[in-house]
Amino acid sequence: MSTCIGIDRTVTARTKHECVYCKTSIFPGEKYGKRAGVDLCGFWSMEFHPECDAHANTTWKPGDWYDHDWADAAFERPKQLTK
Ligand SMILES: [Zn+2]
Repeated sequence: MSTCIGIDRTVTARTKHECVYCKTSIFPGEKYGKRAGVDLCGFWSMEFHPECDAHANTTWKPGDWYDHDWADAAFERPKQLTK
C-alpha cells in the first residue's frame, strides 16, 4: 500500500487539468478532487473528477489500484451526478 499523507481536497480549477481516471479535461471553474501522498517511488499527486473517483472507489478492488497503469484512461467519465 502507498502511504497517503495528504488528505483529499475538492477545489475549483483555475487552470486546465487532466483527470487521472478518464484522461479528459478538467476545465477552469469546474470542481475537482485532489489527492497527494508519498510512497516508495517518491511524491505523487493526482487530480480527478469527483464522479470518476467515486466510480473507481465503488468498482475497483484494492489490488486494482496497485496494478493500474495510470498512463491510459481507466474508463469513460461517468455521467455527472445531478443534484
Ligand atoms: Zn474523469
